[in-house]
Amino acid sequence: MASDPASQYDVIVIGAGAAGLMCALTAGYRGRRVLALDHASKPGKKILMSGGGRCNFTNLNSTADNFLSHNPPFCISALKRYTPQDFLELVDRHGIEHEEKAPGQLFCKDSAKDILNMLLTECEWAGAEVRLKTVVENISEANSGYRLRTGSGDLTCDSLVIATGGLSIPTMGATGFGYEVARQFELEILPTRAGLVPFTLQPELKEQLAPLSGVSCPVDVQCHNQHFREPMLVTHRGLSGPAMLQISSFWKPGDSLVINLLPACRIAEDLFSLRKTRPQWTIAQYLAQHLPKRFAQAFNELQGWSGPLQEYRNSDIERAANTLGQWSIKPAGTEGYRTAEVTLGGVNTRQLSSKTMAVLERPNLYFIGEVVDVTGHLGGHNFQWAWASGVAAGNDA
Ligand SMILES: Cc1cc2nc3c(=O)[nH]c(=O)nc-3n(C[C@H](O)[C@H](O)[C@H](O)COP(=O)(O)OP(=O)(O)OC[C@H]3O[C@@H](n4cnc5c(N)ncnc54)[C@H](O)[C@@H]3O)c2cc1C
Repeated sequence: MASDPASQYDVIVIGAGAAGLMCALTAGYRGRRVLALDHASKPGKKILMSGGGRCNFTNLNSTADNFLSHNPPFCISALKRYTPQDFLELVDRHGIEHEEKAPGQLFCKDSAKDILNMLLTECEWAGAEVRLKTVVENISEANSGYRLRTGSGDLTCDSLVIATGGLSIPTMGATGFGYEVARQFELEILPTRAGLVPFTLQPELKEQLAPLSGVSCPVDVQCHNQHFREPMLVTHRGLSGPAMLQISSFWKPGDSLVINLLPACRIAEDLFSLRKTRPQWTIAQYLAQHLPKRFAQAFNELQGWSGPLQEYRNSDIERAANTLGQWSIKPAGTEGYRTAEVTLGGVNTRQLSSKTMAVLERPNLYFIGEVVDVTGHLGGHNFQWAWASGVAAGNDA
């Protein structure tokens, strides 16, 4: 029994990551006695590694359209009530310098540490305690709240918030704990899979593209009627870069990707006109005008294109234009949770309140952040969901 008042809290948040810290500080400012627990030795490890160490902490253009979920309208309410501008005001209040690297995508100028330190400072100001290296062994119902058995004794709380994230990057402390708690309280878990993750290739294509490792070019990639026009990066394992990470969230095993390698060109028109004006040119020369030279050369070799354009028949040109504009490849798979930025699927939102993130049938149990079936596109949307869902629960718990 946790009869010692020192182990009794109004709110316990399990998971001191992005969503958990935001929830803890919000509830703390409401005068609630709050404890945020984490099994890791440091809080917010994913914040530190995010955005290449500079944390893409929000996206000014974030709307519900930037999220995948089996219940798309669910995220609207929380996102409207805590906006990117609200988070930006907090960042500005702490004097953190930031920059807009791509339209709407805000990054720290200096280091992701600034965001984590800001959250920890706010927790301190709000009187919310953060306790690390604490393993929760068991959760049971107690009086009108919950009792947690931990490695360092029992704790009780009126409201329990699960903010343990998804399965991506297990080496950073990710566990399936949140899903286990959800199952314990008879909530449905929608199938999970890795999102925002690089693709692996079939051995033959991997070998052909291997010399291009490190080359990046802007493409338009399509799958399941979704398309993203962003850079693609060839790696020694397969294909990555923003375009590939974005489309990976929509890709399922066995699907093909259709890649337009020259999205800014009218390829067939260009080739027909070059055949007239520069008949001695090769397709490789045309490609080199628009793509990194190494990529142009290797792609040309991959397709076996040779000889000057004047030797190409109309049908040859049309075929080449089609290949460049609709290069279809079937990835072998993805790199999986090992390198994925997010986990798709998770706690079914139909069982949660969109205003408070509380379980509808159990109003003092909350699920927030990545453990919930709401997953953002690349570009700061996932943190915006963590902040918004954290605030929604923190204002109610
Ligand atoms: C490499 C990388 C880069 C990223 N970059 C960006 C970016 O720039 N912008 C963006 O918007 N998103 C980015 N993301 C995604 C973003 O980090 C997540 O969406 C976000 O951190 C989710 O917040 P969360 O609080 O739900 O989970 P997390 O931040 O993962 O926090 C979960 C916490 O729970 C703890 N925990 C887990 N299991 C237990 C347990 N059993 N007991 C106690 N504690 C537990 C973990 O230790 C962790 O501290 C990136 C992700 C990765 C992996």
